[in-house]
Amino acid sequence: MIDIVFNKKEFEYDAYTLIKAFYPQEEVSILYEGEEKTETFQEKEEAFLVVKITYNKEDTRLEILKNKETVFEETIFLASDDERKERKNKLKQALYRGLSKETKKVLPWGDLTGIRPTKIAMGLIESGMSNVETAEFMRNTYYTSNEKTALAITIANRERALLADIDYKNGYSLYVGIPFCPSICLYCSFSSYPLAKWRDKVDAYLDALCKELTYIGETMKVRTLDTIYIGGGTPTTLEPEQLERLLSHIECCFPTREVKEYTIEAGRPDSITREKLEVIRKYPVTRISVNPQTMNQATLDLIGRRHTVEDTRHAFALARECGFDNINMDLIVGLPGECAKDVQKTLEEVKKMEPDSLTVHSLAIKRATRLHLFQDRYQEMSFENNQEIMDMAMNCARECGMGPYYLYRQKNMSGNLENVGYAKEDKAGIYNILIMEEKQSIIAAGAGASTKFVFEDGARIERAENVKDVTNYISRIDEMIERKRSGLKKYLEIGSAQDE
Ligand code: SF4
Repeated sequence: MIDIVFNKKEFEYDAYTLIKAFYPQEEVSILYEGEEKTETFQEKEEAFLVVKITYNKEDTRLEILKNKETVFEETIFLASDDERKERKNKLKQALYRGLSKETKKVLPWGDLTGIRPTKIAMGLIESGMSNVETAEFMRNTYYTSNEKTALAITIANRERALLADIDYKNGYSLYVGIPFCPSICLYCSFSSYPLAKWRDKVDAYLDALCKELTYIGETMKVRTLDTIYIGGGTPTTLEPEQLERLLSHIECCFPTREVKEYTIEAGRPDSITREKLEVIRKYPVTRISVNPQTMNQATLDLIGRRHTVEDTRHAFALARECGFDNINMDLIVGLPGECAKDVQKTLEEVKKMEPDSLTVHSLAIKRATRLHLFQDRYQEMSFENNQEIMDMAMNCARECGMGPYYLYRQKNMSGNLENVGYAKEDKAGIYNILIMEEKQSIIAAGAGASTKFVFEDGARIERAENVKDVTNYISRIDEMIERKRSGLKKYLEIGSAQDE
């Protein structure tokens, strides 16, 4: 148990996440000077580590006490013109130094705890810094390792090249969510419902979704559609005629033949059939995903994927046979019970299939997942992920002729590492970059979908969220459309005012 004690409310979340990065297994509580712990916390053991952050007029005091003995203290002097961002950086740097000294650990991403480290690199390069200056700035400001700094800069440069002909101001992307899956994976944190129980709602769901898409298509006619992404859930849980209905409706509402990228995340191999792939091929879909996550059967059984390794091979071969020439595969490292040898086996198997892109995720155990809820059951299991495993994945991608093109981090990630997308030349997923770099508005339809309006070249972002629950989404579809209406109006007005 760790306590952080503040004398006022400021940067609590930043301090909390950095401490969690050093002590992922510990419970961390936030307190304010003079405040008693709540009964729930009092019942638990006493904190072995206390981090005191005291904000004064001209400086900030940081003190770390271990078993009531001071083990680190530092006064952070503030300049009168320090902006909030600068004050936050100084606090995080001091906290990092203290925790690093105490734990004798260095973190690959230094004191960066946000999910978009490449956005920082991209911003610095766009501000006119050279790669060398960006690297120096990142290492000095955030204490990022040489390897992660180089990775962030490499990716930022590739992203810049890939986004070069995207018109952020006049363009937008479309996300369409299908929230059904053949079964729910143990680690799933998305809005997804098991198809078997929800089958009789799928048509009503499509009715509502098509209504929302008609509205978006009509309203966004004045803008350029750059990319379409159909995700979920698993879009290929739809029956061929349902898939046909959805894709033909999208075709009617949007200029699908002019987009730069059109992705369908087929995802689960157990949902992919020749008939469905043939329906998809009728439309200008440029990219699909067939996601194994792992090629170890015992792990697949454990995580509730309910498909076989052979299903993955079969689905992939079928997709190639049907003519798909841009197929992504998603993998997860750090799955329960898997060690480096298991990951190596998965990588070898994936290499044989020759996908066009590979997305390697580090398992993140989020609160809303069954894995988190039943973690006692998996206590005996290792959740191994480390730099060696990430390097194995990178080497495999290289051997497949792929380079890294997008990266993001999540909370509670195994090994405190990252998720990296690798792709062959011309096979990168542009939508993935757009969503990470937050440069373009993404209009989203479907249960749980979140629309993101990007203003002032990413300086301001507003969201319009749809309800997650499928039944509510269906019955409240007009309200979902209404929620978008005011945001879209403002977005279109500001856009046209800027154009003048
Ligand atoms: S396939 Fe993806 S969306 Fe579906 S249950 Fe598994 S993790 Fe969740």
